[in-house]
Amino acid sequence: TQPTGPRVSPLFPALAAPDGRPALRFGERTIGYAELAATATALAARIDGARRIAVWATPSADTALGVVAALLAGVPAVPLNPKAGEGELAHVVGDSEPELVVAEPDAALPAALDGIERAEVPVVPETGGPAAPLPREPDPESPALIIYTSGTTGPPKGAILPRRALAANLDGLADAWQWTADDVVVHALPLFHVHGLVLGVLGPLRRGGSMRHLGRFDTGAVARELSDGGTVLFGVPTMYHRIAQALPGDTALASALSGARLLVSGSAPLPLPDHRRITEATGRHVVERYGMTETLMNTSVRVDGEPRPGSVGVPLPGVELRLVDDEGVVLDADDGETIGEIQVRGQHVFTGYLNRQDATEAAFSASWFRTGDMATRDADGCVRIVGRRATDLIKSGGYKIGAGEIENALLDHPAVAEAAVTGEPDEDLGERIVAWVVPADPAQPPAAEELRDHVAGQLAPHKRPRDVRFLDALPRNAMGKITKRALGR
Ligand code: ATP
Ligand code: MG
Repeated sequence: TQPTGPRVSPLFPALAAPDGRPALRFGERTIGYAELAATATALAARIDGARRIAVWATPSADTALGVVAALLAGVPAVPLNPKAGEGELAHVVGDSEPELVVAEPDAALPAALDGIERAEVPVVPETGGPAAPLPREPDPESPALIIYTSGTTGPPKGAILPRRALAANLDGLADAWQWTADDVVVHALPLFHVHGLVLGVLGPLRRGGSMRHLGRFDTGAVARELSDGGTVLFGVPTMYHRIAQALPGDTALASALSGARLLVSGSAPLPLPDHRRITEATGRHVVERYGMTETLMNTSVRVDGEPRPGSVGVPLPGVELRLVDDEGVVLDADDGETIGEIQVRGQHVFTGYLNRQDATEAAFSASWFRTGDMATRDADGCVRIVGRRATDLIKSGGYKIGAGEIENALLDHPAVAEAAVTGEPDEDLGERIVAWVVPADPAQPPAAEELRDHVAGQLAPHKRPRDVRFLDALPRNAMGKITKRALGR
């Protein structure tokens, strides 16, 4: 017999006894747990049996409902970036072949989705009725979400995330960040990547807490939400940078952020000057976490520990992490100096890339996933990201140099607004260090020589950039990450 009440999945125990408490808020629209359970259950019935669905992932209630419904139905969901270009959308849709697409009723869908049936989110009365289990709880190994990587280093690949990875990672985060049903997560992240969708939406729901989405990032809106019940802020470094820039006075910065019990940054390195500034003004440290589409979250700074500017902290519960050198030898050095590739394994790691057996095989070394990120480790186990092997590690004059520390040194100069460092082929050095700088005042860029000396003064002479090139803005992708490929890397 078919169950009649809302469906319950072990992924969301809070849907078992839904009540009027708020679950999700998008703009003016608040969805309580009872409405969430009833609506997602009705939508789950609509998509039940589909092989795979797409979700047109605007920052809206319909996106969240579509994804929760897919998880209840056991149908893999592919969130689509509504701002992606036609070419990228055609690639993702062609690769993932969804049978249905869930979208807001008034969304104009692109040609790439022509011929794919549209499933609108039904309007249903809040039944609040008795909870019923899923007809059959899917296998923990079965795909829950297929999320395309950001495409920072190549065409986006669809990472297949099984149900057990979501559960393991959300529980690890909830433990590490002491997440409770009373937490109210505030963010403005896009919902087609793990940061905004898995952490930002599914994270609070896993523990019965709530989420408020700001639609678009805005310093004033962040401050308002944090002084009106918001307890956790999720952001990418550019958001913390903009908040720090918009509020040059320490008192204003403190009053904007100190309502939060937890400030979390991830997806890209948080520049040290922004981190220090926020800690000095607010007395709160920004908890940096490190993760990726393929593995969900790997490490986090401890919320109850000392501030660790520049570090992404220690492995999350359930995560095994090791550093490996170029020859594949596992490093046991905890000297904060020896650089190795981060490899991880555990329940939170994805099963493979959709239709990319080659890339999947290349990504694993036995059971370990090779992240492509390079790091050092301190004596207390805290990991420091040096950068990506492909774009951020510069081999110059026999030294291995991480772009990040040079970028931080440049950002520390008052005339520098943004900075990116790359390596370029050099006959003499192998690679030479090139600094790309957005000046704080475009009318008065600093002298290149002054910036080069500034770096050499803070770091070591061999880290002095050979060339300094000025730009109006750095190239960035939809997540706000600097795309060094566009800088010739
Ligand atoms: P693609 O794999 O398509 O090139 P991408 O790697 O940017 O794109 P994501 O999976 O969204 O796609 O991003 C994960 C990457 O972001 C990590 O591998 C790492 O390089 C970077 N990253 C995430 N968090 C941090 C952090 N706290 N500090 C530094 N880098 C980070
Ligand atoms: Mg990647």
